[in-house]
Amino acid sequence: MRVAIFGTKSYDRQFMDAANTGFGHQLTYHQPRLDADTVALAAGYPAVCVFVNDVLDAAVLGTLHAGGTRLVALRCAGTNAVDLHAAEKLGIAVVRVPAYSPHAVSEFTIGLMLALERNIPRAWARVRDNNFALDGLVGRNLHGRTIGVVGTGQIGGLVARALALGFGCAVLASDPAPDPALAAIGVRYVPRETLLREADIITLHCPLTPDTRHLINARTIADARPRLFIVNTSRGALIDTSALISGLKSRRIAAVALDVYEQEADLFFEDLSAEIIDDDVFQRLLTFPNVLITGHQAFLTEEALTAIAETTLASIADAERGHPLANAVSAKPSALKQ
Ligand code: NAD
Repeated sequence: MRVAIFGTKSYDRQFMDAANTGFGHQLTYHQPRLDADTVALAAGYPAVCVFVNDVLDAAVLGTLHAGGTRLVALRCAGTNAVDLHAAEKLGIAVVRVPAYSPHAVSEFTIGLMLALERNIPRAWARVRDNNFALDGLVGRNLHGRTIGVVGTGQIGGLVARALALGFGCAVLASDPAPDPALAAIGVRYVPRETLLREADIITLHCPLTPDTRHLINARTIADARPRLFIVNTSRGALIDTSALISGLKSRRIAAVALDVYEQEADLFFEDLSAEIIDDDVFQRLLTFPNVLITGHQAFLTEEALTAIAETTLASIADAERGHPLANAVSAKPSALKQ
């Protein structure tokens, strides 16, 4: 099938081309993401392939439909980039990659926790400057701490398991669909409010939905334990960033590690090192010594990129042959949860 692939980087191309030897699709790569300004590039393509920060609102989907596009293939798990109701109305099928490597994201999450708790980025910078002093690098053990895992699906489940079994943490969890296997290893499911109040470290692994938007906000920060540590590798808008900054300034929050950011679409995945950044909120976040930010990188392993490419191209092949779409996303609320 002819596929217009948006928001592509060198690594996307490398892994897509490698996987496509088994499929033979005609792939056209575009560097910009898909949005109202770039949608014209998709005209005449029956399928488009997009990533997390592309914009597929009703207007863009309407233009896609008019240009003949009938399939949107997300090369990610989260579906919040697409207006699924609009897609359904137009008869555009949407597929995603439900699981490419939950290990990639869960391992990165633990990496962020350890890096910040043990001041590894600061230590690295010091040693490069021949500064071997340890003042200011005192960390805290993860062992024995209470970790709150919000969302215990594939990624959160692995994080909870590693922290409970590997590090000896007390793990609290909140999820509308509790996992009995996690409960069996001592993960304690509690209401979200209890988790947010009692955890030393809160790590977010639920999808972005109206219910979870800004689940970390001024009130939850005020009610949380002192010296709270927040980790977010899920979706930026789970956190009210202004409230987060107030919490950091008031010292209620001791540390923040983010791989995602509410307004990341204008920043992440691009080299802006020679640019002036207009986003004052993001710039303020960068000034805190106890904030560690990465640019939506948690998924970025060879294993995950291979799985993303293979699953995406297989879904496109199924659509081409008129086969059932195993990874189709519907607009129904139950499916939106995933
Ligand atoms: P998943 O669908 O396997 O798990 C999500 C879990 O969240 C499910 O168990 C679901 O029941 C639960 N959930 C739904 N609503 C909830 C709520 N209101 N409160 C608590 N839990 C709730 O998804 P996953 O593969 O584990 O991915 C989790 C998230 O990680 C995705 O939504 C995606 O946004 C994000 N993600 C980020 C990266 C990255 O590179 N940073 C990569 C992949 C996925």
